[in-house]
Amino acid sequence: MTKEVNIDWSNLSFSYMKTDLRYISKWKDGKWDDGQLVEDNKLSISEASTALHYGQQCFEGLKAYRTKENKIQLFRPDENAKRMQRSCDTLLMPKFPVERFVDACKQVVKANEAYVPPYGTGATLYLRPFMIGVGDNVGVKPAPEYIFCLFCVPVGPYFKGGMTPVNFIISENFDRAAPYGTGGVKVGGNYAASLVAHKNAVDKGFADCIYLDPKTHTKIEEVGAANFFGITHDNKFITPISDSILPSITKYSLLHIAKEYLNMETIEGDVYIDEIDQFKEAGACGTAAVITPIGGIQHKDKLHVFYSETEVGPITKKLYDTLYGIQFGDVKAPEGWIFEVE
Ligand SMILES: *Cc1c(COP(=O)(O)O)cnc(C)c1O
Repeated sequence: MTKEVNIDWSNLSFSYMKTDLRYISKWKDGKWDDGQLVEDNKLSISEASTALHYGQQCFEGLKAYRTKENKIQLFRPDENAKRMQRSCDTLLMPKFPVERFVDACKQVVKANEAYVPPYGTGATLYLRPFMIGVGDNVGVKPAPEYIFCLFCVPVGPYFKGGMTPVNFIISENFDRAAPYGTGGVKVGGNYAASLVAHKNAVDKGFADCIYLDPKTHTKIEEVGAANFFGITHDNKFITPISDSILPSITKYSLLHIAKEYLNMETIEGDVYIDEIDQFKEAGACGTAAVITPIGGIQHKDKLHVFYSETEVGPITKKLYDTLYGIQFGDVKAPEGWIFEVE
């Protein structure tokens, strides 16, 4: 490592910090340019960009991990690339090629190597790829030009001093997505639409809200901006299935780990809110926290507590330790999950 940065790794939170270089590629006249690393963290775009008015934008989130051997690795970046392509298809945006997406991740990590937190701190380098529709355009139609950009920030471990369960409340009067809407793709509009439901939950003392399916409001879909899973009393791993759920890469990784590493039966199916007492443990999963244990769920005037409001359940802990171990290189990964940054 050539450069040294003065960062208190053990006190990092999830907040923005300008790092040295970011990757930018521009799309115009039907093709992407070669892309480059730039120092400037400001984008100069037309005031008439579709991303500013009509929400024509999408994003991704993934992390780079430093291993015990001091190598740096990415966790399934090709899956983020493919998911971004599905987001682009949905919003009539041009797709950024999967190989170029993965290469951009590697270039940005390499160029900001000094910001990849040391092994053992639990901190990681968070990568934020995004695409926006830009150019002069006032009518509601796809933008004439696009920018793909990828920047990074070092972020702290989600749990400082051990995993702590948190409580959630069912969102009674806001859905995050419509039955045939954009819930299944990672687009900014879904997040803008979720801010008020999140605030309402936090104002009532909960970590976030849980969204039910927008059609019947009887089934669990998402836990804030994370996917849901539950462990039944007979040790089955169950996670909801629906087109309006954002397919979490963490969730699909946990499905594999539960089955192949922990020998559990796994099911993707309906999870009715009226049947949550079938679960002895429950959690929310996503890149940021890996797993957030769910202490309890408030539904109408009743708080349903799973394993405990203060302690993480043993199966949730095992799932977390296995995935975390794979991401940091301490547990053998399934073929194709780890991409080394050289
Ligand atoms: C990004 C996201 C997730 C988590 O996906 P991961 O690939 O596991 O990080 C879950 N739900 C929503 C709504 C998301 O936007």
